[in-house]
Amino acid sequence: MKNTRRDFLKAAAALAATSSQLTKLPKAFAATTDTLKSCRKIALDATGLKIKTIESFTQGHVSIVRITTDDGSTGSGQISTYDADISATVLHRKIAPLALGADPANIDDLVDICIEKNYKFPWSYVCRALAGLDTAIWDLLAKRQNISVCELLGGKPRPIPAYGSSMSRDIKPDDEAERLLRLKDTHGYRAFKIRIGKVCGHDQDQWPGRTEEIVPTVRKAVGDNIALLVDANSCYTPKKAIEVGKILEENNVCHFEEPCPYWELEWTAKVTAALNVLVAGGEQDNDLAQWRRMVKMHAVDIVQPDICYVGGLTRALRVAKMAADANLTCVPHSANLAMVTIFTIHMLAVISNPGPFLEFAIEPWPWQKDIYHPELKVENGLVNFPQGPGWGVTIRKDWLKKAKRQISQ
Ligand SMILES: [Mg+2]
Repeated sequence: MKNTRRDFLKAAAALAATSSQLTKLPKAFAATTDTLKSCRKIALDATGLKIKTIESFTQGHVSIVRITTDDGSTGSGQISTYDADISATVLHRKIAPLALGADPANIDDLVDICIEKNYKFPWSYVCRALAGLDTAIWDLLAKRQNISVCELLGGKPRPIPAYGSSMSRDIKPDDEAERLLRLKDTHGYRAFKIRIGKVCGHDQDQWPGRTEEIVPTVRKAVGDNIALLVDANSCYTPKKAIEVGKILEENNVCHFEEPCPYWELEWTAKVTAALNVLVAGGEQDNDLAQWRRMVKMHAVDIVQPDICYVGGLTRALRVAKMAADANLTCVPHSANLAMVTIFTIHMLAVISNPGPFLEFAIEPWPWQKDIYHPELKVENGLVNFPQGPGWGVTIRKDWLKKAKRQISQ
């Protein structure tokens, strides 16, 4: 092992809450073509119930889904954020007809039926809509047993360490450093993620020199005891990503997210192999066969399925299991404070390979506020685990009242 690599691993280990989770693993591991199959192991006892209605409540970027079974039990979930009205239409047109009348306990097969019956319309909007149904079903199944979703899946609720996740690229390095320092003082964050490069930027920066300036500026401001993560949002070619990666290593960055256009798996794998800093990715990926390829080729060190982009918790758990079988860490993508962060808190408490931190958005977007209660809070760097059955939160009546309601029955 090279000295620089050993030094880096030592430093990263000192920073992380669970140091073993930030160690770059050997390249050789066994991810077989059976991996997908072995991930389908959610066996639940039949409830004998049938899904009777599927409702969506859409307001701006958000669409909440409520399902009701023939005995009057209900469960609430959420379609993926952004263009939620399009996804809600897909839910009622392409997903609901397949789910009405089904036993919710049959969720493992049901999500596959919804994908396969829509094979002419693969991925994005089908998965976004499916996430609404899937997460509503998990809420209903857990509530029927008066336990949390996390407990239903064998996990134990616990406060989860969070990293403060910046979504801002237009912010100047000094202003970002000042903002993060303030959040460190008020909320006790022990980790932050900042943005570098430009979204799908073809090696260009948001403005010339921003990346080279922001990384050391933030590192200096927050101090050496804070884990620093960066996200390049598909910016670089491999050559440039490796150059930038060296700057990250000099500044003790522990997570380099989406260095290359995410669909260029071979590019990303090349960067992962060349750098000591851990490479993360996968938030946009919603095809489980593509996930299997990514894991098998070790395209990334840290997998980041988004529960709502990938089609729900059931499918996100399959990605986590695939990664666990290959000794890779899973840090799901949860880039806003609508329901996806709630779902992710439960998932992190269930999987065997969680990373040390939950992604917690620090942007004050008004649309993600007042959807559910109680609200999430970060204190001493920890997020409260929502207490109570199901997801542990209640969708606010005043929010539902303002939303557009559609129903399939
Ligand atoms: Mg990202």
